[in-house]
Amino acid sequence: KTTPKGKPKWLRVKLPTGKKYTELRSLVDKYDLHTICTSGSCPNMGECWSEGTATFMILGNICTRSCGFCGVKTGRPETVDWDEPEKVARSIKLMKIKHAVVTSVDRDDLKDMGSIIWAETVKAIRRMNPETTLETLIPDFQGNTRNIDRIVEVAPEVVSHNMETVRRLTREVRIQAKYDRSLEVLRYLKEQGINRTKSGIMLGLGETEEEVIQTLHDLKEANVDVVTIGQYLQPSKRHLPVKQFITPDQFKKYEAIGLDLGFRHVESSALVRSSYKAQKHIN
Ligand code: SF4
Ligand code: SF4
Repeated sequence: KTTPKGKPKWLRVKLPTGKKYTELRSLVDKYDLHTICTSGSCPNMGECWSEGTATFMILGNICTRSCGFCGVKTGRPETVDWDEPEKVARSIKLMKIKHAVVTSVDRDDLKDMGSIIWAETVKAIRRMNPETTLETLIPDFQGNTRNIDRIVEVAPEVVSHNMETVRRLTREVRIQAKYDRSLEVLRYLKEQGINRTKSGIMLGLGETEEEVIQTLHDLKEANVDVVTIGQYLQPSKRHLPVKQFITPDQFKKYEAIGLDLGFRHVESSALVRSSYKAQKHIN
């Protein structure tokens, strides 16, 4: 199959505008703050930033994994920066973020898989920004519950872990991950009392409607509260091709199916990214 030519009109992005956006943009440039919003040139920056939401990446910029869809560099990661928790907390304060999403590269090279820095980051953010609510978008920690418990103990309002795709495509899309292990992580988080659990998938990688619906059932069975569904876009020619552009109606159909299944929130449309409208998922 070849990649469909040209993006459909519903994927055309509005340029971010607004006073809050301009203010944040200049802070980010001035202090060299690291947000996924800018490094991934996210189409939702205008909207998220004006609502006081941004996503921060921790544990460096180099990942030990090499998922076929992801624009993050793969290789030998940098040494851990123990000042990182403070730096992130300070960025959140400077940017006056009301709802922060924190995520990381996967650190399969570290004994604790980065979970200690994860916990320290949440604690530093809480200390410096007592009003800010938090979502942590975590790796699978290879399913190791000691590491996952470090996240549970600091109790972020929302904990998410993305399935990214349907069962059949998991090997191709994220080679070092396992579909069932990810479901297990989500189930475990809820059993440990996490307020809201959340997961996301991308469409357009060659999955069928039936497979998407099965994934929604699997997530429901793992007691997940919130689901995000968006269109996969190829970060570069070296990444997996886009097999299909999903129509707005099809996204709406998945949203309706998800809501019928009983999820608290379902965000389903082409430009949805896992942290889109993240603030409302606390409730
Ligand atoms: Fe940032 Fe996520 Fe919003 Fe994109 S969707 S602007 S990455 S918070
Ligand atoms: Fe990208 Fe996460 Fe996969 Fe690493 S584990 S390559 S950061 S999606």
